[in-house]
Amino acid sequence: MRTHCPYCALQCAMHVIAVDDGYRVTGDPTFDINAGDLCVKGFTAAATLRHPERLTTPMVRDGGILRAASWDEALDRAAGGFRAIADRHGDDANAVFGSGALTNEKTYALGKFARLALRTSRFDYNGRFCMSSAAAAVNRSLGIDRGLPFPLAWLGETSCLLIAGGNPLATMPPLARYLDAQRARGTSIVIDPRRTEFAAGASLHLQPAPGTDAILAVGLLHVLIAERLVDADYIADRTSGFDAVRRIAEREEPARVERRTGVEAEAILAAARLLAAAPAAIVLTARGVEQHANGTDTVNAYLNLALALGLPGRAHSGFGTLTGQGNGQGGREHGQKSDQLPGYRRADDPLARAHVAGVWGVGPEALGHAGERGFELLSAVGSAVRGMLIVASNPVVSAPNAGAVRAAFAKAEHLVVCDFFLSETTEYAHVVLPALQWAEESGTMTNLEGRVLLRERVVAAPAGPRSDLAILRALALRLDRPEAVCHEEPEAVFEELRRATAGGPADYAGVTYARLRGGAQLQWPVPAVDHPGTPALFATNFPTDDGRARFVAVEPVTAAEVPDAEYPWYFTTGRVREHYLSGTQTRRVEALARAVPSPYVEMHPRLAAVVGVGDGERVKICSRRGTIALQARITTAIRSDTLFAPFHWGGALTVNDLVDARSDRFSAMPAFKACAVRVERLPNE
Ligand code: SF4
Repeated sequence: MRTHCPYCALQCAMHVIAVDDGYRVTGDPTFDINAGDLCVKGFTAAATLRHPERLTTPMVRDGGILRAASWDEALDRAAGGFRAIADRHGDDANAVFGSGALTNEKTYALGKFARLALRTSRFDYNGRFCMSSAAAAVNRSLGIDRGLPFPLAWLGETSCLLIAGGNPLATMPPLARYLDAQRARGTSIVIDPRRTEFAAGASLHLQPAPGTDAILAVGLLHVLIAERLVDADYIADRTSGFDAVRRIAEREEPARVERRTGVEAEAILAAARLLAAAPAAIVLTARGVEQHANGTDTVNAYLNLALALGLPGRAHSGFGTLTGQGNGQGGREHGQKSDQLPGYRRADDPLARAHVAGVWGVGPEALGHAGERGFELLSAVGSAVRGMLIVASNPVVSAPNAGAVRAAFAKAEHLVVCDFFLSETTEYAHVVLPALQWAEESGTMTNLEGRVLLRERVVAAPAGPRSDLAILRALALRLDRPEAVCHEEPEAVFEELRRATAGGPADYAGVTYARLRGGAQLQWPVPAVDHPGTPALFATNFPTDDGRARFVAVEPVTAAEVPDAEYPWYFTTGRVREHYLSGTQTRRVEALARAVPSPYVEMHPRLAAVVGVGDGERVKICSRRGTIALQARITTAIRSDTLFAPFHWGGALTVNDLVDARSDRFSAMPAFKACAVRVERLPNE
């Protein structure tokens, strides 16, 4: 029996085979997405299953020390803490923070738990730091948010592929077979301040200054308009709002955009012409252009480009976003955010509230209202938020301005963490509840193209840990909130989720475990059990009020900190092939830890010369929020005014200590990808 990878949204299929000293992973050659291929994280994923540091016993903190406890004691302590806080300070003094790593069933159960068991309005998840800007942008323009609204295979079949802010050879290496096929048949454009291996292989590589991506996109649109390369019929027939966007774009002629972004005017002209000349084209965004304080507007600027060329709804063409986390798609559909209900319904929609309340057997008023999001929620811990349940997330490493989050967590009265390893976040926990891992329990995941996959249990769980579903059920019962109780069997929860999502934008009503086990490949919406799924959206209309896609007029500005005399350089962050997000899992996999044991900072030789630092020497990097010491890697594959560091480590190596927490007003996405720093050489150790 096959299962799927615990890491990214490509959700490669794999087999887990028992061997003498544990388990070994092989790729499944019959699954179309990865065709047997895996990246180094996938091949080594089984190392976490029997890892010696695996949590097998609940823990409670006494006298400042976490000690082993029975499940009854730990669950009593967890539930009792939440009840005491609610009694003293009200329900909203408790909060929940979830994860894009959770299965759809857990996502659903966690949102229900927050609303009906804790009765709090304060719950959000770590996808706020991942896909939120992309989601907000496509919802307001296209009326629905499915990362790729077309089959993944189209990436290999389109004539021109523009990827803005993505490095898929590092984040999703098996995607290479699609990308290679595309490059063999057509042209490609990469927008990235770093000249990654992926960028270097493109027909054109544009290297804007961090945070100026929206300006560049508007500049590209300027060229399309000036040279009459837009699809006027499509704009007239299928969209609204173009005139306002055109008025803004007409100001941004290439020479002006060159001054503002650092991308040469000739390259801007060439990129726009390349895109327009292609018989089919796809525009994709990823975190590099989304993780900004104006990330939503930035994504909309690229969406405007796609709409002007008439791409969404055409074969082998369109606009999409490369989802990051394993269930980054399903994780944002089923209600673990306080502004949203299962099925990608809005929590402020009376009809949606009535539907979900009906499934749950409560009145719509029981669904509460939306509270703080993202960094705002995390930084309220220790003040307005006194108790928090964190499931499968390590925000002490992954949040922006991480030092401020650590300071907040240090003041928490009651922090309960469900995870399968101790982490930097459990250092602040009062109760730690050991959870099962990916291959030890079944559940559905929704990949980056909206395909619902059944990740099967393929190994026996060790004694001790419990499923997150069982933990949520036990807590709801202890809180005496039977209306919040979900089943602990994933398939039973999925049956409830099907009813809750029926009729919603992300409609799973026609997906069943039996269909998935029978090999059905179902991309939502799937409104009935005899429905084949929806591989491509928008062929005839958009799910907006008038059926048209909306151009969104965005100001071509940067919302990032701009380098100045005190902090003269740009700083940006990203991932490496060997590690995944906060590194809680991959830092424990020996082969991965050995390959990339610690973070480093990339800098151009010209910047290194100014600082007076050589390759391999240590530097101190300071932002307005924090300081970190890293080893310098001197490379010409980066802008000469920009530093880059991967962010997978904690403690003194928490790169996110530097990052600016100012957040996008639509999505609450922080400015992970651009802030201002200064850098100094450190003496040799
Ligand atoms: Fe896992 Fe993603 Fe690597 Fe595939 S590309 S093996 S899903 S981490």
